[in-house]
Order: sequence, then C-alpha cells, then structure tokens
Amino acid sequence: MTDTGRAAVFLGPGKGYEIQEFDVPTPEPDGIVIEVSMAGICGSDLHIWRGDSPLFMAMAGGVAGHEMTGRVHSLGSNIKTDSLGKPLKEGDRVAYAYFYPCNRCYQCNRGEFAACPQKVARMGASISRFSGAYGQYYYLKPGGWVFKVPDQVTDAMATPVNCALSQVTYGLQHAGLRYGDTVVVQGAGGLGLNAIAVAKEMGADAVIAIDGVPGRLELAKRFGADEVIDITENPTPMDRIAKVKGLTGGRGGDVVVEVVGIPEAVPEGLQMVREGGTYLEIGNISFGRTAQIDPSQLVWGSKRVQGVVMYDPWVIPEALEFLVRTKDKYPHEDVVSHTFALDEINEAFQNSEWLREGDATKVNRAAITMR
Ligand SMILES: [Zn+2]
Ligand SMILES: [Zn+2]
Repeated sequence: MTDTGRAAVFLGPGKGYEIQEFDVPTPEPDGIVIEVSMAGICGSDLHIWRGDSPLFMAMAGGVAGHEMTGRVHSLGSNIKTDSLGKPLKEGDRVAYAYFYPCNRCYQCNRGEFAACPQKVARMGASISRFSGAYGQYYYLKPGGWVFKVPDQVTDAMATPVNCALSQVTYGLQHAGLRYGDTVVVQGAGGLGLNAIAVAKEMGADAVIAIDGVPGRLELAKRFGADEVIDITENPTPMDRIAKVKGLTGGRGGDVVVEVVGIPEAVPEGLQMVREGGTYLEIGNISFGRTAQIDPSQLVWGSKRVQGVVMYDPWVIPEALEFLVRTKDKYPHEDVVSHTFALDEINEAFQNSEWLREGDATKVNRAAITMR
C-alpha cells in the first residue's frame, strides 16, 4: 500500500492554491524523500503568486515554494551520508538546496554551480509530484545537496537556510564585502534582515537598512543595523540617497544590496554606491520588468554591478554554522511573524501581500507548518 500526502498545487497567478493528494514516492537509489516540517513564504513566491511577470504562468499546475526544512522520511539505497559525509538516517533533520545544477555544462565545470543555466529547469522533472516546499513531503532528486541540521538550530531557524540566508551569504561574498565596509540594505524583509546580520558577522563596520514598515525597521536594528532609513519619513529617492550619503561621510556604501524586488529600487540604489563600490542585485526576479539607469554613473563612478540567484553548495553548511554561532545574538525566529497550516495557504499569501498599503495587520513574514 502506498502512502499519500497533501500538497498545495499552484493554480496560476491570481488564482491561488488547491490542496491535492499525491503518492509518497519510493526514492531512486540516489534520491531522498523528505517530510517537510516548515516552509517559508519568500518574496519570490509572492512575485509568482501575484503574477508580476506573465512568464510565471508557466509555474501553474506544480507544487510551489522553495524555502523549507524537514526530516528524512526515506533514503535511496545509495545514500548513507549527507553532502559533507556525515552519517544520515531516517528521521534526521536536514537543510537542502531546491535547485539542481547539471554538472554537465561550462559553468558547472568551472565550479560556478550558482550560474548553471540548467539549475532551475531541472527542478521540475521528477518521479514525484512533491517538487516544492508547500507539501507534506519533498522529493530531493538524485544529486541534490543535503546537510544535517545541528540540534541547536530549530525548525523555524532552519527554514530560511536554503533560500534567504544562503542567498545573501553567497551574494555578499560574491560582492567582495570586506572587513570594515559600510553596507546599505534596500528592503528589510526576510532576505534583508538576514543580509544585515551576515554583513555584520563578515566584519561590516556599519550597516544601514532601508524600509517603510515600522516593525521591520525595529527588527532590522535587532539584526544589527546601525542605522535605519524610514521610507515614510524619506519619501523620495533623492531624500534617501542624501540620507545614505550623510551617514557615510558623503561617500555612499561600499556594498549596496537590493532585496526589495522592484525595478525602481535599482537606479536609486546605484546612486547609493560609493565610487568604486559594488551594487549587489538579488531581489528583481520578475522577467521583463525594467528600470531606467544612467550607465555613465557606472563608468564615472567605477561601480560594479553583481547579480546573483541561488548559490554554491558550501553556503548551506556555512549558513547552519552561522545560526549556531549567532543563536543568542540575533532574533532569527522572529523573522516569521505568523504561521499558517497547509490548508490555510491561500490566507497565508493574502496576508503576506506587501502591496496592501497602510494595512496595519500586514504580516511581516509568514510560514506554513505542515502539522
Ligand atoms: Zn526565496
Ligand atoms: Zn550546469
């Protein structure tokens, strides 16, 4: 008799989710079936749910979500250890990547797994319908990176490891953040809050966070932000650029991180980068949405733009160690302000909608618990 489990199938932009039941697969020799404990609602999930790009229509019919943690339900016959060689058995708590570099391309051969052009396309094809975070199970396909979660790290802390935390850790390293740098973070949502703490731990001298939601600015300070800029008090881009310049001796940030996810943030952020500094672009995942920039600012300002999506495998264990090390230093569990059951997923997304301006009941960040 096959076991079954429930998962939320994405009906398409603007249509929400429908809970369906699927068979729990028997893993291939190199696959792992994971029982999901908790799944996060990331800004990317909101872009897709809302339909910010017509191309997101292609995601309809699948189980969505990518930010999650869980425990091993069943191991393929070849799997004895995690990706670091630590013994792995049923019931172990794990963090894992949700994308699959191909190991058969120019980038993979250079060890640049995060830049593999196939890493996202390979997420879909699977022996199981459990291919996303919003389900009771997730099938980690052969080749997927998997790491044991240390006991000190709770499920709530481990949930953002495979997206928000690893993404900003990889991004800041890729951007070349150095000891003593000043970092500006545009957007203090899940990615932004993690970026603040990671930047501080990497040796940033000062971190300036920009957001318009009071609760988030408060949280940004608890995550280590030295200064916060409130968008409601600084309503125009010129106000905010002046504020950043004022806080950095007129220079701007060594590294400016965009994790707002709207194109308009880019021309503004570029002007917050000091001459010779780096703009780290992470948030804009919606295809075909554009912003106007003045390229001469890059030339005359000797500025570098670094885009990243996803990460290399070593980042996950580093992120887990970061959580162990800073468990009592930053309020990691407070990033998620509201939790919902899988059956309440439509409500969870409606409540996460950040564009509902002026709604005091707005959820800072939601997560789905599977039981
Ligand atoms: Zn994400
Ligand atoms: Zn590849």
